[in-house]
Amino acid sequence: MGRSSKDKRDIYYRLAKEEGWRARSAFKLLQLDEEYQLFQGVHRAVDLCAAPGSWSQVLSRKLRSSNETSEVKIVAVDLQAMAPLPGVIQIQGDITKVSTAHEIIRHFKGEPADLVVCDGAPDVTGLHDIDEYIQAQLLLAALNITTHVLRTGGTFVAKIFRGKDVTLLYSQLKIFFQEVTCAKPRSSRNSSIEAFVVCQGYSPPEGYKPNMSNPLLDHCYDVDFNQLEGPNRVIVPFLACGDLSAYDSDKTYPLQLDTGKEYNYVPPNQPPIRPPYQEACFLKKNNLLAKERPPSPVSTPPATNTSE
Ligand code: SAM
Repeated sequence: MGRSSKDKRDIYYRLAKEEGWRARSAFKLLQLDEEYQLFQGVHRAVDLCAAPGSWSQVLSRKLRSSNETSEVKIVAVDLQAMAPLPGVIQIQGDITKVSTAHEIIRHFKGEPADLVVCDGAPDVTGLHDIDEYIQAQLLLAALNITTHVLRTGGTFVAKIFRGKDVTLLYSQLKIFFQEVTCAKPRSSRNSSIEAFVVCQGYSPPEGYKPNMSNPLLDHCYDVDFNQLEGPNRVIVPFLACGDLSAYDSDKTYPLQLDTGKEYNYVPPNQPPIRPPYQEACFLKKNNLLAKERPPSPVSTPPATNTSE
């Protein structure tokens, strides 16, 4: 394949190089901003899963051109190292770790962020179910860390795969944001299930305490769920149904016979049709269950001829 063939096939790939973006994904964030004015009034922004850095470039160019640069703080996090960018503080770290959340806050001098973006993607395996699952876990990790660093009313934008369980993710996001929209920028290929959730108006449930082991999101952490309180604890209502004076199913009750009457066995109204155990019952009843004995592995020594 010639060096120019990707340039010809992919206009965004070519434009990214021409305009100085590190990756074509810069256009996705730019197009999301055109629609949602994501950067309006933003002074502190976090770019999760940032390498090689095209989204951080967009944040840097947009926020620093419309504000006093000293007022703007951008923190970028990725597992991988990233080449430096003007006005972007880098953390080489894991977004699933609470220590990363603390480091972000430290860079903001204790102030929360106005905007968190996440274009995170795991290494794609090509097995759709696994890829969708891992992407969903990464999105939940991004949401989790966002609850530590975002201000009330703030915005969260993240990559999502529109797989079969996407509605579950939407409802989890709706717990934390007033407005959740799914957006597909023009620069995101139609053939890809990738899209972006734009979550506006951060408003966690009352009393919610940011917690990396939030059971609303994930159960994979080593945590005593009984110790969690308030909205951090998921409680499924338990309802005891029926009249409490009805028969207790754990108790044994004597046969209730009218005086002078014998117990009369009543067969089930509808016994199972050809149940799997029928053959076993038949074999047992007819004493046919005994297995044939295999020949003994220890061969008996040949009889010695004593007559000689
Ligand atoms: N938005 C970036 C840009 O515009 O250049 C591209 C991001 S790239 C598609 C996905 C990134 O997610 C990778 O660099 C990967 O290292 C990062 N990533 C995946 N899991 C991560 C994690 N647990 N913590 C931090 N970064 C992670």
